[in-house]
Amino acid sequence: QTITKPPPLPSPLRFSKFFQSNLRILVTGGAGFIGSHLVDKLMENEKNEVIVIDNYFTGSKDNLKKWIGHPRFELIRHDVTETLLLEVDQIYHLACPASPIFYKYNPVKTIKTNVIGTLNMLGLAKRVGARILLTSTSEVYGDPIEHPQKEEYWGNVNPIGVRSCYDEGKRVAETLMFDYHRQHGLEIRIARIFNTYGPRMNIDDGRVVSNFIAQAIRGEPLTVQAPGTQTRSFCYVSDMVDGLIRLMDGDHTGPINIGNPGEFTMMELAEAVKELIDPKVPLKIVENTPDDPRQRKPDITKANELLGWEPKITLREGLPLMEEDFRQRLGVPKKQAN
Ligand code: NAD
Ligand code: UDP
Ligand code: UDP
Repeated sequence: QTITKPPPLPSPLRFSKFFQSNLRILVTGGAGFIGSHLVDKLMENEKNEVIVIDNYFTGSKDNLKKWIGHPRFELIRHDVTETLLLEVDQIYHLACPASPIFYKYNPVKTIKTNVIGTLNMLGLAKRVGARILLTSTSEVYGDPIEHPQKEEYWGNVNPIGVRSCYDEGKRVAETLMFDYHRQHGLEIRIARIFNTYGPRMNIDDGRVVSNFIAQAIRGEPLTVQAPGTQTRSFCYVSDMVDGLIRLMDGDHTGPINIGNPGEFTMMELAEAVKELIDPKVPLKIVENTPDDPRQRKPDITKANELLGWEPKITLREGLPLMEEDFRQRLGVPKKQAN
């Protein structure tokens, strides 16, 4: 009796094309701030199936509650530093704490998440032929000497400082992405994300926008870390998600900066929050942390030309949206003017 062999599997394996018409998308760190907004956007498309993996270190199921039980959605408790077997077409790899207080809390774990976690996701992408996007960071530029920062700039990073677990971790993650691309032909995408803010940030996240908004609503002094002249450029989360999806679905590997070039000193930010929420609240200058970058502003020419992307929401438009969300979660409604 002759045995007929099954036809060979297509290579690279394209699970969606082989078994079904939907696109199966993995989002690591999808229970976090940016990840959960990304999931909301991906779920709007009925052709997408979304799988989230998260260890809930800084994220929460609450951020995804509207999708739990949805037939196109799956949530798995998993740590990216462990091997993962799944069949997917795209991987948005976000898993990593992003706020300095959380990434410094267990720095060895932060490095493992960036290095072993990214290696595992690349191994998975290689096995199934998936396209993988890494959410890298403006921190790869360190305390930048070039301003604004272009993608060609190699950065000014302290390799042994308290921020290095994050900065250098992301730099190694980028290296791994490019080595898998060159050595194994993987389809990669690298986004260098600049400071992002919006609803659903952890209230006690420690990042500057969430701190100032929560402090102003609670009537506490706004803690400006010295000297207050350091700058950041803040991108609203819906703009960020739009940029990430364009990068994933486009033809360019990156790295591509995604951020809002509007640049503010921390003093200016504090004044803007004060004016919006409570003009009576005082500012308090407090001690800064080591290696705090003095300036940061993205050059977004590439995102603009290659992805047709630019941010739409200014800081003055985005802050009130965040205030509304924080008031709801803190249970402090806005006082009605008489
Ligand atoms: P976040 O802390 O809200 O989200 C990170 C998510 O990853 C959380 O849900 C957390 O539980 C999960 N996670 C952490 N370690 C994990 C692990 N080992 N295994 C599985 N899950 C793990 O942060 P965010 O602001 O949403 O940032 C998302 C991504 O964007 C991160 O990769 C971050 O480095 C990058 N990024 C963010 C910003 C920003 O301003 N928010 C700036 C630059 C880069
Ligand atoms: N890996 C994974 N899921 C997969 C395939 C690989 O988590 O579906 C992990 C695997 O455990 C390994 C890493 O990804 O540690 C790198 O995999 P690769 O195949 O590139 O390297 P190797 O296993 O040969 O070291
Ligand atoms: N910062 C501040 N007050 C705070 C928290 C942060 O003045 O309560 C400053 C901090 O010194 C840094 C900037 O805000 O210069 C951005 O810090 P954040 O932790 O939000 O993000 P980073 O860009 O440093 O990762």
